[in-house]
Amino acid sequence: MDYSRFLSSETDLMRDPEIRELLKLTERSDIVSFAGGLPDPQAFPLDELAEITVFAFREFGVSALQYGPTRGATPYVKELVEFLWRVRGVKASPDEVVVTVGSQQALDILSRVFVDLGDYVVVEEPTYLAALNVLRARKPRFVGVPVDDEGILVDVLEDKLRELRSEGKRVKFLYTIPVAQNPAGVTLSKRRKKRLVELAEEYDFLIVEDDVYGLLVFEDGIDTTPIRVLAPERTVYVGSFSKTLSPGMRLGHVIAPKPLADVLERAKQSIDLHTPTLTQYVAMEALRRGVVERNLPRIKTLYKMKRDIMLDALQENMPERVWWTKPVGGMFIWLKLNAQVDTSQLLLKAVERGVAYVPGKTFYHDMRETDTMRLNYTKPTADQIREGIKTLAEVVREALRS
Ligand SMILES: *Cc1c(COP(=O)(O)O)cnc(C)c1O
Repeated sequence: MDYSRFLSSETDLMRDPEIRELLKLTERSDIVSFAGGLPDPQAFPLDELAEITVFAFREFGVSALQYGPTRGATPYVKELVEFLWRVRGVKASPDEVVVTVGSQQALDILSRVFVDLGDYVVVEEPTYLAALNVLRARKPRFVGVPVDDEGILVDVLEDKLRELRSEGKRVKFLYTIPVAQNPAGVTLSKRRKKRLVELAEEYDFLIVEDDVYGLLVFEDGIDTTPIRVLAPERTVYVGSFSKTLSPGMRLGHVIAPKPLADVLERAKQSIDLHTPTLTQYVAMEALRRGVVERNLPRIKTLYKMKRDIMLDALQENMPERVWWTKPVGGMFIWLKLNAQVDTSQLLLKAVERGVAYVPGKTFYHDMRETDTMRLNYTKPTADQIREGIKTLAEVVREALRS
């Protein structure tokens, strides 16, 4: 039976291009997939979390199994606030916090409370696919600003802001992933960060800062100061334990000025009442015991090693004209063929040969054709990275020849 007549018009926006179908294939065991965005399972503190979960049931069982506050379980929020201060220098009071089901829910709620039909929203080009998806549901007007090695191009941003202002229009917010950006792997420089904050003041918009990779920087001497630290009143800070503890726990958070946090709380209440209490108590105990901080060096060493293996393999196998980023952290390398090749077309060939990536197109608000692709180095094993890049380079060579 055809069910389309029962569906809301919004579901049209949930349609995904052919790409999703193709990417399903990449779950086959005979394919080396650089397409996912998954942590290395070795990064999970499995034994510790098993023990902590039992402990949390015994110690906090009654609270952990009960309904809880929409903003988050009070003792967890207290622990979280201290953690963010210790590791990111983010100062927040508990009434500025809303605990969410992953940062994905935070992005969804922010889209709902900020964006009306036709509002102007600035996004990086390229940017996080899942953020684009929740934003698209609100039908905003996207203003795209490219990124380079130092992050978002603030001069281009300024030009666009000025132009909009001259037409009597204004931007509501800008969504940015300042550290180890997904998908481009670039990090916002100190100088540009300062300029971005000035522009937010001058043109009166909010900055939604996705800090998911703030703790996953492998190189020394990189400025990772959160924007929230520079401009607490202008910034809505979004964080997550998905890349530092476990994505399966679905624990994210928003730190926003209290008047905004109050609105976010109301929005969340109507969606799901609160984030699962049990997970919050488990995470609370993990934070108390310093599990995340203790684990981080191990994760960073592992990811740095894998990044280097991928960079070496690319260097060794890719043709001259191909260019890629050298990320200081995070989970992705962004690759550009510098040729008239649409990477979403090329994906079919790559999958036939046993290797997969995400075509660059998916990371652009306008889904433009592009010769770029995103490669994940955290999930595949070292051997898979070496083999997979070799195969991918062959596919690329053939495409450049034809
Ligand atoms: C992985 C990732 C997240 C995490 O999302 P969760 O919903 O918290 O699992 C958020 N933002 C970006 C840019 C990511 O790459």
